[in-house]
Amino acid sequence: MCILHQDHPLADATFEGMAEGYPEIGLMLLATAAGLVLWWLARGEPVWRWASLGMLAWGLQTGVGLLERTQGLEAPFTPSQALLLVAALAWSANLRQLQPTEPPRLTLALMPLLLAALAGTLYWVPSRFAEVVWLVDWLPMLFALPLLEAALRGRASEARLVWGLGLLLKAGGSLALGWLDGAAGFVYVAWALGYILIGWGGYLEAKDERIGKVLLGFIPTALLCSLVLLGIGLGQANHAFGPLILAGWGYAVLLALGGIGLVIYQRISNAERQLELWINLLETLSSKSQSTQHLIPEGVLQSVLHGLKPLYSNLVGLEVRSDVTVRAGQSGPYVHTFELALEHPAEGRLYFSGPPKDERGLEALAPLLTERLRLSLTLNEWRSKAYADPLTGLLNRRGFERQMQRLIRLAGERGKPITLALLDIDRFKRVNDTYGHPVGDEVLKQLAELLRKASRSDDLAVRLGGEEFGLVLFGADLEDAYHVLERIRAEVRALHIDPIGWNLSISGGLAGGEIPPSMATVQRWLEQADQALYKAKQAGRDRVYPTPASTLVLQDLLEQ
Ligand code: GH3
Ligand code: MG
Ligand code: MG
Repeated sequence: MCILHQDHPLADATFEGMAEGYPEIGLMLLATAAGLVLWWLARGEPVWRWASLGMLAWGLQTGVGLLERTQGLEAPFTPSQALLLVAALAWSANLRQLQPTEPPRLTLALMPLLLAALAGTLYWVPSRFAEVVWLVDWLPMLFALPLLEAALRGRASEARLVWGLGLLLKAGGSLALGWLDGAAGFVYVAWALGYILIGWGGYLEAKDERIGKVLLGFIPTALLCSLVLLGIGLGQANHAFGPLILAGWGYAVLLALGGIGLVIYQRISNAERQLELWINLLETLSSKSQSTQHLIPEGVLQSVLHGLKPLYSNLVGLEVRSDVTVRAGQSGPYVHTFELALEHPAEGRLYFSGPPKDERGLEALAPLLTERLRLSLTLNEWRSKAYADPLTGLLNRRGFERQMQRLIRLAGERGKPITLALLDIDRFKRVNDTYGHPVGDEVLKQLAELLRKASRSDDLAVRLGGEEFGLVLFGADLEDAYHVLERIRAEVRALHIDPIGWNLSISGGLAGGEIPPSMATVQRWLEQADQALYKAKQAGRDRVYPTPASTLVLQDLLEQ
């Protein structure tokens, strides 16, 4: 078996001798340059080192092939063929490890080409290993299919199409070398363009850049060039299957152009979608959407999170800390954070499950986000001043009325009863008269703390005025509430507040225990609880009474 068959294109008289080896030297340099680009790319993704080796092996193969030809080497298996195999294996190793991939569907359109390459080779030159060996250049193409599919579906860098096309050109050139006589021009051009595109695509992928205008012009020109050269070569050789081969390569060119076209189309529609998302987000952040529910910081944070999420898919949460912490979504030390510059001592933070994509966009957005959150914080401060009692931090009467509306709705939705408790400190005047107002205030604060601890997330603890407190127990009937109040009463008795020399106590009145249909009902309960409290005081204080209307319940409870 002889690799330097007389009708082999590289053995063509025009390319004999070192002086005529210039095209091959050029190819060597191109392959080496592309290999170095891939080596540089491998800094970020070490797996690319394999492709770089493959590229260098291809370069070396051309050089060694040239030497073999000029030296007239004849062997059944030459070093240059070994290098060809090494290159194909290195490339395959590289492509098999790359991520992300998609099961080939659109890229299956390349399969007829691969099968035709195989069938044609077996039909034409089954006896000559030297020609069959070129088929290994299609192996990387096969492994590239799932990777190219991911790029076509917009889930991987579009630069993959560039180096993918490079691989296709290289494989096409190799096939022509095996099959055709007199197509050397096509082979050189296909290889040269292939190497250029592999290097270029690799560079773009590493830089996370898109296919630019220059490349967009270069690719169709290069492909048409290759088609014309193949046509000329086939015409000169007067090949029997010339038109069929040309049609096959034409099909490959069409697929390549179609792939690039698809990516550009996706890019445009993606850009439109992104723009819409940005507009939505800006509307969320602008005053346009500031309905009353958005005045609540939690509401603002939720809507901001909602607006940001389509743009930043790995955003998991949003948090603002000042005197209180308001949060939407998740937070935690395991996630990536992006700090927002709020006014000291407030802190704002975005939580991402991975490094935030499009950090530039985020930086640009940050001042707007910050402004929106600052506004909601100011409102929150104003709101808490209006709705909270400054001494104890509990809700004041106004806050109670506002929150009660929400609870009435919630009780109706969930079918849960509500019980209202009124509490009054026994002989509180005595504390003030004996120890002074500051000590009295301390008692109020400690009782407030006790009530806060006793209330669950949907309960309300209220300072209704003076030393009178309210407790709204969500989901509790009269009996449940009675037990809660008894526990609180015991806790108050156990309180020791310096320098008070006696045990404090409270009296309480209960009303409700049903689902309140409206605020009017709650107002009625308030009066009933007040009457019950009055009875408790009259009966000797330090006790909790349900509303007088339900004396049966009272009997039951007191007998327990
Ligand atoms: P009882 O309820 O057991 O009948 O007796 P009492 O001594 O608690 O009587 P009353 O409810 O009439 O007294 C309420 C007192 O609470 C009067 C007022 O000086 C005191 N008070 C109201 N608001 C405050 C406050 O903000 N700080 C302090 N230290 N005392 C307050
Ligand atoms: Mg009182
Ligand atoms: Mg009192």
